[in-house]
Formats: sequence, C-alpha cells, structure tokens
Amino acid sequence: MMKDLRLAGLNAERSTIEVNGVIIGGKEIILMGGPCAVESSLQMSQSAETVKKAGGKILRGGVFKPRTSPYSFQGLGLEGLNYLVQAAQEQDLLCVTEVIDAQSLGLVVDKVDIIQIGARNMQNFGLLKLVGKIKKPVILKRGLSATIEEWLLAAEYILAAGNPQVILCERGIRTFEPSTRNTLDLSAVGVAKALSHLPVIVDPSHAAGRRDLISSLSKAAIAAGADGLLIEMHPNPAEATSDGPQSLYPEQFVQLARGLGTVAGSVDRVFVCGEREDEDTLESLRTQIDTIDQSIIKHLVARMQIVGKVGDQKRLDRVKDTSREKEIIQRLVTLAEELQLPSELVKKIYPLIFEFGVQSQIKSKVALDKELELSFYPLGSK
Ligand code: PEP
Ligand code: MN
Repeated sequence: MMKDLRLAGLNAERSTIEVNGVIIGGKEIILMGGPCAVESSLQMSQSAETVKKAGGKILRGGVFKPRTSPYSFQGLGLEGLNYLVQAAQEQDLLCVTEVIDAQSLGLVVDKVDIIQIGARNMQNFGLLKLVGKIKKPVILKRGLSATIEEWLLAAEYILAAGNPQVILCERGIRTFEPSTRNTLDLSAVGVAKALSHLPVIVDPSHAAGRRDLISSLSKAAIAAGADGLLIEMHPNPAEATSDGPQSLYPEQFVQLARGLGTVAGSVDRVFVCGEREDEDTLESLRTQIDTIDQSIIKHLVARMQIVGKVGDQKRLDRVKDTSREKEIIQRLVTLAEELQLPSELVKKIYPLIFEFGVQSQIKSKVALDKELELSFYPLGSK
C-alpha cells in the first residue's frame, strides 16, 4: 500500500508550504490558535490579539462545525467567516477554517488562507478530491481511528487531484484510555515524516480534551519534530459554544508560547514569542536578568559538584592533567569570540572558577585524609 504514496511519499527534499510569507515546514515552528467555533466579532478580535501577542502566525476558528450531535451548535456560517477574516486582518495574521462539504468549501475558499479538513472527514474522498482542485494549502487532520497509512493515503488523494500544498495534522486517536478525550500519538509525527515529505503539525487540544495538558503536550510535539501547533484558545472558555474544557485562557496561551523557544532551540528549530519586542519594560528586562543570574549560579553549583567528583576520580586513578585548564579557556575564548562576547571576560572569570574548584577538591581531600587517619588511629590512640 505504501507504494501508492506516489506523491506524498518521501523524496529527496522535505516540502515547505509558503502562505503570504509564512513558511510551514521550515526551520520556524508555526503557532496557530483561536477558538473552536467563531461566536462573535469581539471574541475573534480578542483571540487574534492574543495569537499575535504569543507570536502566532495563524488564527483559527470554525464556522461550519462538524458536531457529533446534530443538536449541538453547528457554527455561524458566513457571518462567522467575516469575523474570522476581519480579526485576522486587524492583526496581520493568516486564517484557517474547516470545510465540511462542497458548499462550505465554495463559501470560504476565496476568503481564508488555509482550508482545514477535520478528522471526521479525513476519508470523505469526494471532499478530498475537491480540495485537491483548489490553490490553497490544506490542513488534513488525522481521522479519529485512522492508521498513519490511511492518513497518508488521504493526503495522496489531495495531491493526486492537483494540490501539492498539504499539511498533515496529528490530533489524537481513539484508544481504550478514558482520562483524555483521545490519545496524542506523538510517534505518528516521526513516522509520518519518515514516510512522507509533507509538513506535520500537532493539535494537542482535540487530543487531550483538557486544558491542563496542552502546554506540556505542545512542547513534547515540538521535541518530537512537529512543524507547528494548532491550539484552541478562547477569551472566555467557560462560555464557549464548543470545546470549552480544552480551550486555553488567553494568558495561558501566551504563557505556553513563552516556553516554546527553548524547546524549539533544543531540536534545532526556532520559535519567537511575539510579546518580547514590544513589551520590554524595565521591569520585565530586570526579571529576565534575574532569571539568567539565577541560572548562572545554579550552573556554577552543578559545575562545582562535578569538579568534586573529578577530584575523587583523580584520587582513585592518580591522574594529573595540568594542561586541561588552558585547553578549556582556549575553547571558551573561541566560542566567546564567535558569539561576540569579549574574550577578556572569559579570561578573567575562568581562572577564578578553576581556583575555587581546586580549593574545594583540596578541602575534600583534607577531609577525606582526616577521615582515613581517624579510622586508622582512633582518637587518643596515637
Ligand atoms: C476542530 O479543529 O475544531 C475540530 C473539529 O477538530 P477535529 O476535526 O480534529 O476533531
Ligand atoms: Mn474543537
């Protein structure tokens, strides 16, 4: 069956999808957020403001909702579409909305930047062929009980119909585990990327079904190789017409975004939280400095502990390596120069750090010798 991935299958290069200057599948992690369903103009402009503040690039909001019950809120339709599009424009964001059939596709296709095919429609082959004819990117969510192979073959339908711009979205699958709404299948990110060149994003919201897990799952998704995140956030989740319990409060969304840069950096990706640049108050800058200073001290403590262990090791192995200090300083000077930090700083600080390290080794040796002496010659026996 995998041989049928003629267009979706892995080839020499990974695909990137560019929409009005936003690149999905490149080095940058793309954050998308917004409410499950569009409810009002105010709700959407508040959401857009939050997405922008967090460094998000794409505003989401459903206007045609594929609800499990026919009696649940079905979406505001065209009225909601205008709220979504306007709010995105106000904040210079792109926007994405879900389509559920030919009619809804026809209504939204010229107005939004990205089309979403929801989990419940992943194998609606008629609809896949239709979005295969448009000239806009399509986010294809993995079906509730779809294997990765079925998901990739659904993508193949869109590609085969002529649209190369498909973004895969892992959003949790149905398992026996009831403590979460679905089970986020993070290995699917790696598997999909091993089998296909298409970008893969993760929606932790529909996977977890509860807001307390969204932040950690988002970080895990980036660590697992996701190219972006699609997260539900609502200005007032308690009043949300759908998916309130999994929707983040705006402050939580921004807070989550603040933590993404570090994780992205650790896997050689980039994410820049939007808030920093324009909110650099004296107070926030001082807080940042305090945090860095604390971490320098913690690292020094960790270094001293290791130096202590090295001392023990040396005693055991009788190793002496006097040239090592010089080597370390040389390496750090080169690094400092590369990073445009004055190398004088390294040259001044490091001898002190070494000196204190050696002193603590000596102290612990003296203590050890005393202990040994005591064990050979108990007090008063000499
Ligand atoms: C949604 O994004 O609001 C949605 C309905 O998601 P899914 O299709 O993943 O359930
Ligand atoms: Mn939803």
